[in-house]
Amino acid sequence: MQDRRNFLKLTAGAAVGSLAATLPGTVQAKTCGEIHWDENADVIIVGSGFAGLSAALNAKRQNLGSVLVLEKMLVIGGNSAVNGGWLAIPKNPIQLAQGINDDSPEELVKDQIKSGRGMQNDAALRVIANRALDAYHLCINTGVKFREGFNIQVGGHNKARAMRTQHGTGGDITTKLYEAGVKEGIDYRLQHYIEDFIMDGQKIIGVKVRKNYRFPDLTTGSTIFIKANKAVVLANGGFARNMALRAAVDPSLDPTLDCTNALGATGEVTLTAMAHGALPVHMNLIQTGHWGSPDEGGFGWSNALLSIGWHRGVAISVLNGKRFMDERADRKTCSEAIMKNRYADNSPAYPVVFFNHDKYAKDDRVVRALRDKMAWKVDSLDELAAKFNIPAAELKRSVAEFNQHVKNRKDPLFNRKMDTAEVLTGPFVVSRIWPKVHYCMGGLKTDLDARAIDGRSMAPIQNLYAIGEATGGIHGEARLSSTSCLECLTMGIVVAETIKADIQGAV
Ligand SMILES: Cc1cc2nc3c(=O)[nH]c(=O)nc-3n(C[C@H](O)[C@H](O)[C@H](O)COP(=O)(O)OP(=O)(O)OC[C@H]3O[C@@H](n4cnc5c(N)ncnc54)[C@H](O)[C@@H]3O)c2cc1C
Repeated sequence: MQDRRNFLKLTAGAAVGSLAATLPGTVQAKTCGEIHWDENADVIIVGSGFAGLSAALNAKRQNLGSVLVLEKMLVIGGNSAVNGGWLAIPKNPIQLAQGINDDSPEELVKDQIKSGRGMQNDAALRVIANRALDAYHLCINTGVKFREGFNIQVGGHNKARAMRTQHGTGGDITTKLYEAGVKEGIDYRLQHYIEDFIMDGQKIIGVKVRKNYRFPDLTTGSTIFIKANKAVVLANGGFARNMALRAAVDPSLDPTLDCTNALGATGEVTLTAMAHGALPVHMNLIQTGHWGSPDEGGFGWSNALLSIGWHRGVAISVLNGKRFMDERADRKTCSEAIMKNRYADNSPAYPVVFFNHDKYAKDDRVVRALRDKMAWKVDSLDELAAKFNIPAAELKRSVAEFNQHVKNRKDPLFNRKMDTAEVLTGPFVVSRIWPKVHYCMGGLKTDLDARAIDGRSMAPIQNLYAIGEATGGIHGEARLSSTSCLECLTMGIVVAETIKADIQGAV
C-alpha cells in the first residue's frame, strides 16, 4: 500500500508531539491541507494491551476488513503483559466446581458500586459484567491457561471469583491473543507512535504516525499517514507514568510514590483525543495499589505474597504495634489507612504484614519473596519487633487480640471478614508495605458501546472509539482488583460489535 496516493482536503491536525506536552493547552492546532496517505486499513487500533488485542481479534472475527494494530513500544502488551494475571469472572467453571453457586454478574456489579463510592457508571459496569463469560471464552478459545482449581476472593469482592493465569502474568493472555491474531491475518506494527489524528470535521479519518520510533525519543523514526477506512479504536492505556500529567490532575498524589506501570503508560493519545474535542472524565482519580513493597521496584512480587498475607495474616503499624485497617478492604480504603503511618518528619513508617511461615514454606510466593529479600522469616514476635523497631509489648498484645478474633471468627475492630484468617503462632513471613501508583480510573468518556464522546456536542465523534484503561468514569473512585482485565477483554468484544453496527447503520 506504500505507493497508494490519496489526497484529501483536511482541517485541524493537533499534535501532542512530546511527553512533556502533557496538557491540551500546550497543543497547537494547525491546518494540514492535503495529506498523502502512505497506507490504509479498515480498522486501526492504537495499543496492543488486553483492550487492543481483544478489539483486533474481534474486529477480524466480525469481518470488518483489514485490521492494523499500532504499538509504540518494542514489544506488544503494555501494562497488560506485565500485569498479575488476575481475572474476575462470576460463574467461572472453577468457581462452580468449588461449589459457589450464588455468584452472578449483578453480584460483581454490587461490589463495584460499593467501591465506586457513587462515582461509578453502573450501566457500563453491567455491560462488562454481563459479558464476563464471553471474555473468559475468548481466553480459553485462544489457548490461555488458568491455574487449575485456583479461584479466590480478592479485596473488596464479596465472592471468590478471581482466577489467575498459569504463570501469574497477563503475558499469558496477551501472547495467546497476539498469536491468534497473527494466524487470523491481523497486522501488528511495533515502534509505531501515534502523533496525531487526522480529522475531517467531527470524523476521524486517519492517524499521523511516527514509524520506527524508539521510546522515548520523539526525534527517532519518520512520519507517515495511515488512513482509517472504517474506525480508529483507542486502546492506549493509562497515564500513570506521566509525572507532569499526574501532578496536574491530582496534586495531592505523593510524587515520591513508586509506580507499578510499564514505561509506556504516558497517555499522550488520550491528550491528543482531548485536543480534538474528546471529553475526559475523572482524570484526577488515580489509584494506588496498597500491596506495594518499598523493598522492590515497580509491581514486583509483593502483590502475590500479600494474597496470602491479607487473608491469613495481619497488618501492623510499626509506630505503635497495632492493627490499623481491615486488611481485606478495597484498595482505596487500605491505601489511605497505610499512608497515615508516618514519622514525625512525615517520612513513611512502612507497616508490616505477616503470616505463619510453615504452612506456606513451599508456596512459590513465599519461596521467591524470601529469596529476593523483599520478605523475611522471623521466628518470634520478639524478633519481629526488634527487626522492625516495633514496640514489642504492644505487638504481642495486638497479636493475642487478633488470635482471639480469629477463634471467634469476628473482628470487632475493623469488621474484617475472618473466614480465612489463621491463629498466628510463628515462625512468620513478614514484609513491609507502602502503596504504589497503579491505575487511572479517569480517561476518555465513551457511551456504553465504546464510542468516544465529543465534549462540545456530547455526541460520539464519528468513527472514533475508546476502550480499556484509556477510558474513564466506569469504576468511579476505586477499581476493584481483577476487573480491569475483564473490562479490557470485554470492551474489545463490544467495540467490534459497535463498529459493525455503525457501518451497517451508515449504509
Ligand atoms: C503491574 C500491573 C499489574 C496489574 N495486575 C492486574 C491484574 O492482575 N488484573 C487486572 O484486572 N488488572 C491488573 N492491572 C491493571 C491492568 O493490567 C491494566 O489496567 C490493563 O492491562 C490496561 O490494558 P489496556 O489494554 O487498556 O492498556 P495497556 O495494556 O497499557 O496497553 C496500551 C498500549 O498502548 C500503547 N500506546 C500508548 N501510547 C501510544 C502511542 N502514542 N502510540 C502507539 N501506542 C501507544 C502502550 O505502549 C501500550 O502497549 C495491573 C496493572 C499493572 C501495571
